Amino acid sequence: MGKLKLKKDIAVKGIIVFIILVVGIILGLNFYNDYKYKQTFEYKLIEHGYTLEEAKNLVNFYKKDEILNALLIREKNSYILELIKEKYYIHNNLDRYITYHEKKPEFSNTDVIAIVNVYADYKHYEHDIETDIEKGILLNVNKYYTLPEDFTPIDISDISLRYSYSGNKITKEANDAYVSMWNAANRAGFTLIVNSSFRDFASQDRVYNNIKASSGMKEADKVAARPGHSEHQTGLAIDVFEVGNQSTETFKDSPAYTWLKENAHLYGFIERYPENKEYLTGYSFEAWHWRYVGEDVAKIIHDENITYDEYYAYYIENQS
Ligand SMILES: [Zn+2]
Repeated sequence: MGKLKLKKDIAVKGIIVFIILVVGIILGLNFYNDYKYKQTFEYKLIEHGYTLEEAKNLVNFYKKDEILNALLIREKNSYILELIKEKYYIHNNLDRYITYHEKKPEFSNTDVIAIVNVYADYKHYEHDIETDIEKGILLNVNKYYTLPEDFTPIDISDISLRYSYSGNKITKEANDAYVSMWNAANRAGFTLIVNSSFRDFASQDRVYNNIKASSGMKEADKVAARPGHSEHQTGLAIDVFEVGNQSTETFKDSPAYTWLKENAHLYGFIERYPENKEYLTGYSFEAWHWRYVGEDVAKIIHDENITYDEYYAYYIENQS
């Protein structure tokens, strides 16, 4: 009988030890999991003041450790959650988005992103960046990006008088594309005509300074680009009208302009200074100014309804 009791005792002790072991393992795992969770960005962001949902969104959006670490260093700001929902959000611009939003709360988040992306949070001509001429047909010239004084497009050629007034030149590639576009427009019943195109630095300098001399700098800045800042120096821009309708006042209301808006991208041209986009392009609406960028890029710009400045910021500058 004594033996049986002993066996029973051993069994009971065995069970107790087993239970302690199991509880220990469970507690240990819990502790370990807890410890592991505290190492996550989700936990750290919550500790930093974000809600669970905000923390999850931030972690999902910013997959890179260095960016999440940077978020932990800066003050908690739920506005970041609004910004990252925007299609054209560029992380490098985050500080400027926040500053601009604080300064101009009346602008939508979409506008804040667009304005900052194209440097329009800086004054015109007060934030000069030498443009990357290696970008070829995609180089950007505006009131921030400048061309060197001696820049001349390599393969500049005369536009035939059939399609243009005399003295007009653009690059060979743009010229060929323009002729294709001209023919398509012609089939649709429009006779396009180029009245201005490539202008070198010196002639742009003359244009600008003539206006400045007669009407002052403010007026000159309104209607012309300062030398080095004119897209006409790229050899990729044309001012195009319709024969018989060459008024900058009325061209915008013509069926020829509507045709260009709907079809120019098929030939690689984009409307460079669209209506109501002056706050991004720096130029009043110019229905006649078309820029060659190639068909693929023109299609994106047309389909996404963005300016070239926005395209360049997001798809070129941001990706390189
Ligand atoms: Zn022009």
